[in-house]
Formats: sequence, structure tokens, C-alpha cells
Amino acid sequence: MRQTQLFTKTSKDNPSDEVSKNAQLLIRAGYIHKEMAGVYSILPLGYRVMEKIIGIVKEEMNTIGGIQMKTSAIQSKEVWEKTNRWSDDIVDNWFKTTLKNGTEVGLSFTNEEAYSSIMKNFISSYKDLPQYPYDFKTIFRNETRSKSGIMRGREFYWKALYSFSADQEQHDTFYEKAKTAYSNVYKRVGLGDYTYMTFASGGTFSKYSHEFQTVSDAGEDLIYIDEAKGIAINKEVLTDDVLAELEINRDSLVEKKAIEVGNIFSLGFKFSEPFQLTYKTTEGTEVPVFMGSYGIGITRLMGTVVEVLSDEKGIVWPESIAPFKVHLLPLGDDITSMSFEEAKNLYIELTSKGIEVLWDDRINVMAGEKFADSDLIGIPHRVVVSARSLKDGKFVEYKKRNSSEAKIVSFEELIQMLTA
Ligand code: ATP
Ligand code: MG
Repeated sequence: MRQTQLFTKTSKDNPSDEVSKNAQLLIRAGYIHKEMAGVYSILPLGYRVMEKIIGIVKEEMNTIGGIQMKTSAIQSKEVWEKTNRWSDDIVDNWFKTTLKNGTEVGLSFTNEEAYSSIMKNFISSYKDLPQYPYDFKTIFRNETRSKSGIMRGREFYWKALYSFSADQEQHDTFYEKAKTAYSNVYKRVGLGDYTYMTFASGGTFSKYSHEFQTVSDAGEDLIYIDEAKGIAINKEVLTDDVLAELEINRDSLVEKKAIEVGNIFSLGFKFSEPFQLTYKTTEGTEVPVFMGSYGIGITRLMGTVVEVLSDEKGIVWPESIAPFKVHLLPLGDDITSMSFEEAKNLYIELTSKGIEVLWDDRINVMAGEKFADSDLIGIPHRVVVSARSLKDGKFVEYKKRNSSEAKIVSFEELIQMLTA
């Protein structure tokens, strides 16, 4: 894409009303726009990142049998009354509104009720199980804290999958697959080295749930990491019991602040019972479906990558979720210049090979400004075409965003490197 097609512009100054690094950098680089505290619009660059994250999550969910759908944002009071979660005394972060005819409705803050109610129409026999529907969705929560940028939105985007199994055994098999799929997601978005599967509080049907926690000072949770085992325990469940059960020596635990980037939960019959979501077994008896829930905060994940991987110059996207693979910077002050012409040729060639390139085709912009913008935006590969690089033929200056060393390579070498 030509950079002049992007209506967004970078800004040198941090927005005065943002304290979180993710919001500051994402706003300055033109990825998001703040509507109000905890509410952000996603701009074109941000949308490309979000789509990449969604693509990865989608692949991992489909691999374990997930099937994508879309649940409504507006939900009926009756559905929520079944689990006693309509009341503001029980759920304090509802956004509710009233239809013209006086009917009260809620904007979904989670999805268990919606899925239980939908699946009741389709599950009646053991033959209908298991099922793993999921969706990406805007979730509304009237959060009191909203100082963490897109990591804690009043409106945010998530993926939620729900599992509907015949019994605990069938459930457990899927639950283990979900753990692997989740680890794959965090590895693929570049957070593998910082993210721990963390034991957290469970419920009536399981002693623990599992959170995926990314170590960062910007986190709101406290976790205790066992490096040798590669797992962690959330402070909320840290007792001598847990340590014995998980065969963890305490002395070995390291306390860290962390960001919850996802969680998986065995729900058992908690929702199937109130919804009378049951099925007929092979013997013909009617029993409740065993459920599980699996969430990932897509926008929180995007914010977390910025928190964890950025440097003093700006964002450093991993290639897997970067808005573009290559940032192409011709230096020279008009479109008749050699560097502009050669950059154009390179742009055409790279894009024809399926490489995503952001071509900084702005004219009359100083080299220093182009470099600073490029560092701020954080595209993984920077390619500079200048009179200097072209003086001995078709050469460019190539640098990785996360490296300080630039090198001169030929067009051919560059293309080879980027398509390898
Ligand atoms: P937290 O403990 O951080 O409030 P939660 O346990 O309430 O989160 P869930 O309801 O289980 O979160 O939601 C699933 C995932 O959605 C979380 O793991 C997190 O990644 C993300 N998430 C939750 N709340 C928000 C929010 N306000 N803004 C952005 N992402 C969120
Ligand atoms: Mg939580």
C-alpha cells in the first residue's frame, strides 16, 4: 500500500490523557483512535494487525474442531434471568438499554447464556455431541478501571469458544487440545517466551481454570512462575495445597506482574442445568451437557504485544501480526528522482510476489522524519532506496526493525531474503 493512501498521520507527542504505553504508541503511530476512556476505534493499520491476530486464532480454533459463527450483541433479558445474571446487583458491569416498546435488553458482556440458549435448539442426542462453536465479537463491559489502553476496554473484541461435550471425559480430551491451541496462539503472535499457562480459580466442576498470562509490568495480575516447569500460579489460588498438588517447591517460584491474555474454563453443568440443555444417552436417559469456555482478548493481545515488544523508538511487531512485512522508504524529494522511480519498481515487484509492502511515497519529507515514523510504526523489515544506495547500481539499504545494523544488498538479494 502507498503510505499516501493512509489518512492517518504519526504524532511525536504522547497523548496527554493516556498513561498506558500501548495506547500512547498505538495512538501516536496511527493504529487506534480514542473515542473516550476505554473506548477506541481501530484505524486501518490497527485493523490489519487485528485481522492477522484473528487469522491465527481462527486457524488454531479450526484445528481443534472449532466452528465459527456470530452471536448477537443485543441480548434478551429472559435469557440472562435463567442464570440469575440479569440483575445489576449480581453483574455490575452491564450496559443495558430499552427498546421503543419498553422491552429491556442488554449488550453482551459475555457469551455463555447466548450459546447455551442457541445450542438447546440443536442438541438432543449423544449423536449431536461434541460441538465447538466460537465467534469473534465486540464485548461491552462497564469497567470501572480503564487506564490500560486497549488492554482493558469498555468495549473490546474477543474470541470465545464454547465446548459442548457428552461427559467429563469427552470434555477433558478437548480441554487438553485447547491448552495446546492456546499455547500455539501466543507463540505465533510473538509472546511465547513471556506467556505462562497459569493455574487460576476454578468453579463447582473443576478445582482450577487456566489463564494464559504474559509477564509485563503493565499487568494487573500477580502470578508465581515455576521456570523449570514452565507454568505459573495465580496469586488468587496460591496455597500450600496447590504447591503440593502440582509438585512445586515454593522456593522456586518467582513473583511477576502479568496480563491475562486468555483463559480456559471447565463449566460443567453450570449453564446447561439452568437452560435444561440436555441430551439422550445411548441408554435413553436424559442428562445435562458438559460445557467449557475458552476466551482470548483479541484487542488486549494486540495491546500486550505493544507493551512487551516495543522499544524507546516505537512498536516492534513480530512478522506474524505486523500490518506490513516491509516498509519501503525512498529518500529524495520529488517523484522524478531516481530513488522514487526505483522504489516504485521494487514496490511493484515485491507486491507481485505476495509481499505486503508499505511504500512511503510521501514527497518533501525529510529522511529523519521517515526513519522516525518507520521506527514508530514498527514494520519488521525496512528498505531504504536513496541516491547513495543506488550509486553503484540497483542496491538498497536493508535493516530489521529490531536490529541496529543496516546492510547494503542488491535488489535480487533483497527479494530472495524476503521471499525465503
Ligand atoms: P479480567 O480478569 O482481566 O477482568 P476476565 O477474567 O473478566 O478478565 P473473561 O471474561 O474471561 O475475562 O474474558 C476472556 C478474555 O477477554 C480475558 O482473558 C482477556 O484476555 C479479555 N478481556 C477481558 N476483559 C477485557 C477488557 N475489559 N478489555 C479487553 N480485553 C478483555
Ligand atoms: Mg480473569
